[in-house]
Amino acid sequence: MARREFTKTVYAQIVKRAMHPVHGVFCEGCGLILGKKPYHVDHIKPDGLEIEKSRKLTADDGQLLGVECCHKSKTKIDVAVIAKAKSREEKHLGMKRAKGQIKSPGFRKAEKVHAPSSKSLPPRKLFRSIQP
Ligand SMILES: [Zn+2]
Repeated sequence: MARREFTKTVYAQIVKRAMHPVHGVFCEGCGLILGKKPYHVDHIKPDGLEIEKSRKLTADDGQLLGVECCHKSKTKIDVAVIAKAKSREEKHLGMKRAKGQIKSPGFRKAEKVHAPSSKSLPPRKLFRSIQP
């Protein structure tokens, strides 16, 4: 499913909302004044989790986040949350077997290999002398 992106109008609304009259753009996640630092307009609700995709995104669905301060870490969390939700769904639909502990005795410890001792058989003779 395609990820919905904000329209230019909505994007502009979000950026305007995050614009401090004196200090300029600030991060809506932590309130840090970004100035010229890079920012990203982020989906508040991870788009992969949204079921109703026909509804148009509005400025309320997004937030302006500083790339350095908030966006990097949030993306990581979103990805994990989506992956977990998908895995739960697959399990529910029987697409995936539950991961269980594999019952197995494991490997036996290798028995020590002894060097041939005096008790072992003498080496086999490959050549025999032919008796005349
Ligand atoms: Zn931030």
